[in-house]
Formats: sequence, C-alpha cells, structure tokens
Amino acid sequence: MHFQSKQQVFDIRKSEIENGTTFPVLTFASWEILPGIRHCFTTRAGGVSEGYLASLNFRRDSYDTQENILENLRRIALYFDTTPDRIVSAHQTHTANVRIVTEADAGKGAARPLDYTDIDGLITDVPGLVLFTTHADCPPLYFYDPVRRVIALSHSGWKGTVARIGAVTIRKMQDHFGCRPEDIYAAIGPSICRDCYEISEDVAEPFRACFGKSDPAASASGPSETNPEALKSDSSPLDTVPGSSESDSSPLDADSSVPAEDSGTLDTEHGVPKSDSSPLDAATDSGTLWEIPRILARGKNPGKYQLDLWAANARILLEAGITPGHLTVTNLCTCENSTELFSHRATGGKRGLQGAFLMLED
Ligand SMILES: [Zn+2]
Repeated sequence: MHFQSKQQVFDIRKSEIENGTTFPVLTFASWEILPGIRHCFTTRAGGVSEGYLASLNFRRDSYDTQENILENLRRIALYFDTTPDRIVSAHQTHTANVRIVTEADAGKGAARPLDYTDIDGLITDVPGLVLFTTHADCPPLYFYDPVRRVIALSHSGWKGTVARIGAVTIRKMQDHFGCRPEDIYAAIGPSICRDCYEISEDVAEPFRACFGKSDPAASASGPSETNPEALKSDSSPLDTVPGSSESDSSPLDADSSVPAEDSGTLDTEHGVPKSDSSPLDAATDSGTLWEIPRILARGKNPGKYQLDLWAANARILLEAGITPGHLTVTNLCTCENSTELFSHRATGGKRGLQGAFLMLED
C-alpha cells in the first residue's frame, strides 16, 4: 500500500482475520508510543462490501447490507481484540453535539441499533469500549488524556469545524472528567487537503466569520450546542461546489487588483483579517500556518477558495489549550488517495466510508 504523503505521520499496521489474512489500517506514528490506548483509521482494504463500496465500508442506511457492515465491523473489532458489541457509533449529521458514552451504550450503532441521533462526537472513560466515527473527506479528531484516562473522537467537516466541535469536545472532557487541556493529546486524521478542497462563497463566509479574528474565549464556549439545528444538513458539507450558483458577489471575482502572491493566500486588505493577537503566534514555529490566510486561501478558479480544514482544526485545538507538542496533524489527503481511501470529493459522492476507531485499553 502506497500513499502520496510527504513524511511519516502515519504507520501502516496489519490487522489479522481468522484465516491468517491481513489488511492494513493506519495509525498515528506519534500515538504508537502512547500507552493505554489503541486506535486506527481504516482504508478501503480488508472488507466484504462490493462495487464502489469495496471493500471495508462503514456507510450504512440503504447503501450497503447490514450483513456486510456487521462483518466489516467484526473484522475491525478483531484489531481491538474485541467484538462489535463493544463498539459505540456516532450518528453524524454535522452538528457539534458530543455524547458522554457509558457502558450502557456498548454496541450501539454496531451490534445493535442506535437510540440517539445527531451525535458527531463521543467521549468515554470506559476501558474496552471502541469509539467509532465515519469519514470520507471530513477530518476525524482523536483525543486522549492519559492522566484522567479519557478518550474522545469527533467528526469535524466544515460545519463541525465552524461550530468548533474540537473545542466543544475538549470543554466536555474538562467539565465531565476534570481533564486539563495541557494533558490531552489530539490528532487530526486523514481527510481532504486544502489543495483539493475548493469551496464557494457560501462556505467561505462562515469561515471568515469564525476565524477572521482570534477569540480563544469564544472557542472554548461550545457555541453550537445551543443551536444544533442551524448546523444540520442532509447534504454533505463537502458537496457545496457542484451546481452552486456562481456568485458575483465574491470579492475576488471582480477584483483584478488582488496581488498574485507566491503563497496564493488572501491578505488583510481583501476582507480576510489576519489575526495579530493569537496566542498561537508564540506557540508555533510555523508562523501563519494556523492563521486565516492559510485556512482560507484564494481559489484556483474565479470566485472560489481553497479551504484548509487541517489548519482550521489545528487552530481550534491549540486555542482550546492543546499544546503544540501534543498535536498531530495529518498529511494524508483522502481525495488524492481515492484508490486507497474513500473520498467524497474525488468520486462525486459515490463512495463508502472509512472508520475512525479509538479505545482505552483495560
Ligand atoms: Zn489533497
């Protein structure tokens, strides 16, 4: 298995099925040395689903058979030395709702039906429960507090990112389990990169509003939980470009004076204020990496933008108190590796779903 990836953020581990055959799963190399947890992000390989869902698919509802999903879950459960009745699934609808998972939730959305809806993040302190979210371009966010022994897993597409589900998750870990942000390890998993993620003004505007000014206090308050309905959508948040009207209100469309910077990024003179008060300036060596010019770059096409969900989520996590040394950011793009990974954007939506999995060991 080969991925277009510049440096080794990920390891490829082998998961074994009963007959001795193996299939690959991805793990964060930086998390391999953390004791007390097991985690992975699946690829397309190793399952029983067919056609465009081939083969380790976790997209449910009418897309795949219940038998296929359960067999795929059974196989990944083996990687955790357990069974699907220990897996607990989210119910992802692009909210920033985060659920505290208890023993009573074991198997929900895996071996037995879900009895909750609109949950895009899961937190637990119960060893042996495998948290489970699904992805096909949207970033998974992994969390681990080795001091309080608490884990969390969240789904952060563009709507979840604007709603700062990463910060909501951390705040909930603090409130319910007494976690300290400085103790928490966080990792942003495989998802679409900025270069591949073209968006229109309708998505750019909320990002400008969300990230144009640094406001750590707001980032920690979990703004979306009070209004999850506003964030719900039947369509994928990554599917905003096809068919969308070509707005003539884009500041870049009519403005031929936009300087052709080498960086290709917007600057403060063109409606995207660069934060100059971020506490991250001193905390990172990378300068503008977390700043709005990187998060929302000028598009390759007129009236479009390139959105960096990796940088946006990194900034949210750092502002919520994660230390730079505890943050791992993917360099693996699902869209550029659609042979190996399901990608919504690369396939026009005709794809399965990967699974992100995280478990506290006994
Ligand atoms: Zn890419």
